[in-house]
Amino acid sequence: MNNKVAIVRCADYTVDKVYRALKLAVESAGGLDAAGKTVLLKPNILFDAAPEKAICTHPGFLEAAIQLLNEMGAKRIIVGDSPGLQPPGFSAKTSGIGAVVKKTGSEWRDFTKGKIELSGQDGRVMKVFTVTDALKEADFVISLPKLKTHQLMYFTGAMKNLFGLIPTLTKSTFHVRFPSQESFAAMITDLNLAVKPAYAFMDAIIAMEGPGPSAGKPRKLGLVLASSNLLALDAAACGIIGYPPDKIPINREALSRNYWLKGFDEIEYPCLTVEEVKVTDFVKVHLKKSLGPRVRGLRAPSQLLDFLLPKPIRCLRDALSSRPGIDRSLCIRCGDCTRICGSRAMELKGEGKEKYVHIDYRRCIRCYCCHEICPVHAIEVKKAGLGR
Ligand code: SF4
Ligand code: SF4
Repeated sequence: MNNKVAIVRCADYTVDKVYRALKLAVESAGGLDAAGKTVLLKPNILFDAAPEKAICTHPGFLEAAIQLLNEMGAKRIIVGDSPGLQPPGFSAKTSGIGAVVKKTGSEWRDFTKGKIELSGQDGRVMKVFTVTDALKEADFVISLPKLKTHQLMYFTGAMKNLFGLIPTLTKSTFHVRFPSQESFAAMITDLNLAVKPAYAFMDAIIAMEGPGPSAGKPRKLGLVLASSNLLALDAAACGIIGYPPDKIPINREALSRNYWLKGFDEIEYPCLTVEEVKVTDFVKVHLKKSLGPRVRGLRAPSQLLDFLLPKPIRCLRDALSSRPGIDRSLCIRCGDCTRICGSRAMELKGEGKEKYVHIDYRRCIRCYCCHEICPVHAIEVKKAGLGR
């Protein structure tokens, strides 16, 4: 596999500037043959949020990517995502992505409308995924992630972004089936092996730091990354914001499959290097010591290892994990968190103005989906023992 990651500077989201940066990055990273192809573009639309919040891939970035692919002779360009709580008729209006799809004559695809079974022979914890049927029409997929921190997985980039190919609420049940970082990372890696995306273009012009992927703060990095090797690209992005790539569960798991890379030192940088653009004060999610099922060299499925852990150890792990807490003064009682919670640990109680969200911490698996989805950032992830 090609090990090149192109890192190119780009000052802002002016479409022409992003287009030129992306073109240089793709050419430097080894090129891409899109002539006559149907391409599925997967931006990150965690939920439909305004571009300045840095929650979604920026519409200017998407427009530049479409322009580049059209210039390369792509036959059809399909764009879509599946936010966790996708309303009927979702068209990505607030994020500006829907307007770009219309303006460029690309096709918007509602991922909830059609599903197919995708098998992954090499899956360690998942051999078959139910995904959008847009994959059936596409010759290949390009992941268009936004560089962001992530409360559960520390970092979200090109590989994690493909989780959105799985339609809507089905996704939250994955957190119940794969409750540890390690087992979740194994599932995401299996998904990437099944989909085999052709490329990733990363929007790191304005990234998100702090308590991502939705409640953090926009942080200007002024960078565009491109690679046909998604693990290499994610590892480079982690290096830029100051995470050792091997400390990120998805990177570590993907590396162990010997498909993308044999070691992070194999990555080549034809444009800028990580050292040249590294940010020393990026606010990251604190790396915690894993009490989970990590046994070096053991090839047994991580999902299985979760259940092999003795119950007291699992309870201890949960008790020591940071947990979600509701700020009642901010909560607008929309109930989104109760709908996304796959382990049914959240409930809206009371009536009228007295309504409040109750969390049953004995059921809570610390997936932080509620924190991700809350539209008013009323859910904080707090260190254990600090109360609600
Ligand atoms: S905590 Fe957030 S998501 Fe949950 S009900 Fe309140 S506002 Fe809605
Ligand atoms: S309460 Fe929040 S963190 Fe706990 S299981 Fe539910 S969605 Fe996940």
